[in-house]
Parts: sequence; structure tokens; C-alpha cells
Amino acid sequence: MLISGEKIASIGRADRGPERDVIDATGCYVLPGGVDPHAHLLADIPHATAAAARGGTTTALSFTNPESGENDASCLLRRRAQVAQGTAAVDLGLHAMLGDPEHVTADDLAAIRQAGAGAVKVFLAYPSLGIMCSPTRLFELMTQARRLGLLVQVHCENGPLIEALQAEGLTAGRRGAALFAGTRPPEVEAESVASVLATAAITGAPCYLVHLSCAEAMDQIRLARSRPRPPVFAEVCLHHLLLDDRRVTGTDAGDFLVCPPLRPAGHVEALWQAIADGTIDAVGSDHCQDRSPVSDEIPAQAGGTGGLKYGLAGIGARLPLLLSEGLSAGFRSKCWCGWRARIRPGSSGTTRARARWPPAATPTSWSTTRPGSACSATGRSATGRPATAPGPASTRACASAARSALWCAGAR
Ligand SMILES: [Zn+2]
Repeated sequence: MLISGEKIASIGRADRGPERDVIDATGCYVLPGGVDPHAHLLADIPHATAAAARGGTTTALSFTNPESGENDASCLLRRRAQVAQGTAAVDLGLHAMLGDPEHVTADDLAAIRQAGAGAVKVFLAYPSLGIMCSPTRLFELMTQARRLGLLVQVHCENGPLIEALQAEGLTAGRRGAALFAGTRPPEVEAESVASVLATAAITGAPCYLVHLSCAEAMDQIRLARSRPRPPVFAEVCLHHLLLDDRRVTGTDAGDFLVCPPLRPAGHVEALWQAIADGTIDAVGSDHCQDRSPVSDEIPAQAGGTGGLKYGLAGIGARLPLLLSEGLSAGFRSKCWCGWRARIRPGSSGTTRARARWPPAATPTSWSTTRPGSACSATGRSATGRPATAPGPASTRACASAARSALWCAGAR
């Protein structure tokens, strides 16, 4: 494989010249650089992106995180300046999180679009944090976003229903990690997914549903696609493919808190099946370089040294573990091969999407490219153990391949 710059120039026998570096990839998989479509990296860009590079991910998309009172477009510009300082070890793009969706204006959205963001993200949960988007506001946002060519990404959990379940659990004397995970059951996700898809159908807005985690959500996606609807993109995250809810019943349950929570094993199998049948478009890490504190309404576990926190660091583990899991069993091997086969390389070695969104004439995201970094990876993998780094040869082979090939996501 001859690589020129950052692209695959040819595959086959090539004359060796004195200017060429040769990497012996015997026994290694040679892959295009992975793309992580869902991460939270801005707390420590150098270390998070170093972990990404060591795991074969050469492009990552991170969400901004506006501070209280900060304008969402201003946050995007501030964070873009941070990224432009050049500390990232991989290509890094930003999606604009809407921290105050109830008050974001059409001008704000236009400014976000003008700044180069391809997507905005809203939450249908977390009312106590003031970031929850109401049904009315979601309708307005989707209407405006469609006109602007912005993709709307949605965290699908019914916030008020979760609050009701938490209040009931606290009254019953339940506490800690089990309460946190148990009050976010699959039904609150599925209901939210259905609501978003209905709003998308009414407004005609394409949408991207992040970290879907349950069988019912997969059913909702399939149902929506069986009808004439705007495009809907479905994402799952690594931890929901590898771990189940037995992790939140032990003494170390607090180490495995994530939103949505880990699901019973049947849901894990449903997600793999959804990969097999093409329901899933992308696998992200939802990497959190800093874990987020759980709402004060849920006290820490007895004996804990502080408040409960949630979130997992998985950007380095995402591609290696997904590959190993996908190839480790016959069923999953079929899934993997079928999924990969749907992605057809273009003439330059990059991925050709199955359909185009946003339109090719509009920018999808901005990015900045930096050379590889020697920083040490930090953070735990989704399994709670330090992420294992691939050997130097395989790492270099991955990182040198066509970085923009999106192995895990063919746009529908
Ligand atoms: Zn996330």
C-alpha cells in the first residue's frame, strides 16, 4: 500500500525509492483512520486525542459545552480558538451544543452555521441543569435548522419522566448508583426517540440520534425509515455494545455509570443485530475526559468519598475493541463484514456516503490538522481498565491511512 501525504495512492507492488518510509505491517490489520463521531474532549485535548491516535482514531468530533450564561455561538468560537492552538494529536471538529435551547434564537443558529458547524446538539433530559429542550422548542429548532442546513443531534431521554422516577425512588429510600441507573429505563429513551422522530417528520428536518442504547429505540428507527420521512441517523456507543447492567450492581457500580445507563444483555444483543441489519449508522465513544457530577438530588453511595459521577473514557478503546468484538464470534463477524461492505471507497480512498447530508455545497465541519503527539494516553477504557495501545507498526499503519474514511458510518 503506497500512501502519499494522507491518502492511499495505490495498492499493490510499488517500487521502493530512497525517500519512502516502509512500515512492515505483517500480521496487522491496515485500516483507514477511524472517525469518532461523539466525544467530549475539550477538558484535555492533548491527552484525549493522544488516546484516540493510539487506538487508530484519526478524526474526532467533540461537543462544545457552553458555560452558564454563555452564548452558544460564542462558545463555539471560543472553543474553536482553543482547538486552533494546535494541541490535538488528531483531526478535531466541533458540534455546537445548545446550552440554553429555550432562548437560542434564529440568529444564534445562523451564527453557528456561519461559523462552520454542521450540527447542533440538544438534550431532552437534564431539566435540573437547565439544558433540557421542550417539545415546543424542539419543533422550532428543527424548523429553523432545516432551513439553515444544520443537522439536529438529540440526546433522547424523557427528562420529566426521569425526574418522576427519581422522586419515587428517593421516597422509597433508594440511593446511589442503582437509583441513578434504574430511573433511566429503556422506556424513557424509547418514548423520547418516538417524540423526536415525530417532530422530525412534521418539520422535515433530518436528525441524528446519539448513543441509542435499547431494543425499543432500534424499533423506532426502523419504523421511521419504513415511511417517507426525512433522513434519520442512528448512533450507538462502544460501552453499550460491550457491557450490560450487571456492571451497576456491584460494589464498583459507580465506576460504570453512564447516560443512558448500561442495559440488560438482551438490549446489547439487539444493538449488535441493529448493526447487522443496517439500522445503526455510527459507533461513537461518548468519551468523557472528565466525568460529570450526578445531580445533587441523588446522594452519593454510603461510604463514598464524594458525589456520584458518570461518563466513560473510551476514545482509545473504541476501534480496537469494536474490531475484536466484531470478529470474535461468528454472528458478529457476519455483522461486521456486512456492515463494512456497505461502505464503498471512493477513487481517492475515502468513503462515499450512501446519501448526502448536509448538501455537498455546504461545509460539514471545520477542522484543524496536527501531527501525531507523543503524549501519554490517560483515562480508563469503557471496561474500566487502562486502554491497551496497539503496537507501533499497527498504530502507524492506521494513522497513515486515509484519515477521512468513516469506517463506521455510511450516511443514510
Ligand atoms: Zn455525549
